Amino acid sequence: MVVAIILSALAMTAIVALRYLAASGLFAWATERVRPGLYAGLAPQIRREIGWSLLSAAIYGVPAGIVAWGWHERGWTLIYSDPQAYPLWAMPLSLFAYLFAHDTWFYWTHRWMHRPRPFRLAHAVHHASRPPTAWAAMSFHPLEAITGAVVIPALVFLIPIHVGVLALVLAIMTVMGVTNHMGWEIFPRALVRSRIGGWLITASHHQRHHDHYRCNYGLYFRFWDRLCGTDRGLSDRFVRP
Ligand SMILES: [Zn+2]
Ligand SMILES: [Zn+2]
Repeated sequence: MVVAIILSALAMTAIVALRYLAASGLFAWATERVRPGLYAGLAPQIRREIGWSLLSAAIYGVPAGIVAWGWHERGWTLIYSDPQAYPLWAMPLSLFAYLFAHDTWFYWTHRWMHRPRPFRLAHAVHHASRPPTAWAAMSFHPLEAITGAVVIPALVFLIPIHVGVLALVLAIMTVMGVTNHMGWEIFPRALVRSRIGGWLITASHHQRHHDHYRCNYGLYFRFWDRLCGTDRGLSDRFVRP
């Protein structure tokens, strides 16, 4: 049993690491096409970002591997695969619930990590990327990686989710993690500057967090930042000439 759990954790680590390398690699390649030279001179920083990210992948792999094993072997979790197990509207609702719960956890732990001691101990690693690149998506100190790694494995015990919706949550998490750090805005201005865009976090919002530190702490939504008065709007760096 212990061997099976270790193998499951190793498999999950490999999946998270490959997912990171594929997503960050793809958007770093796109950056070179769309904004040639944006990462010029950042090679040593990128090497550090990849190193921290791969270490984070190993940390993410452990709780994910344990839960995946328990799901398969012991019937743990509220993950379901029969689309008719719950009414159809439960799918979009669970998608939103997962994103909102993750965002809430991230906002408050992130804000806490900007206090002097936790910042020095852990979060400084993430902010050592100046400016961040597409490779910084998982560039966290191991202590910070632990706070991120437990979220989804805990939620699958609390909120029922279809396995396909869970895959969508992980895809959104991966793509937004990369695009929010890559140094340019991928979403159209019409969306980013729209009413709905005013509640969503994209690169224009998170870049301002990396520039100013004490604002824009959220992950997917601007709800908590707006409610708590920590929203300082969008970076104007990305406005195209
Ligand atoms: Zn960041
Ligand atoms: Zn921060």
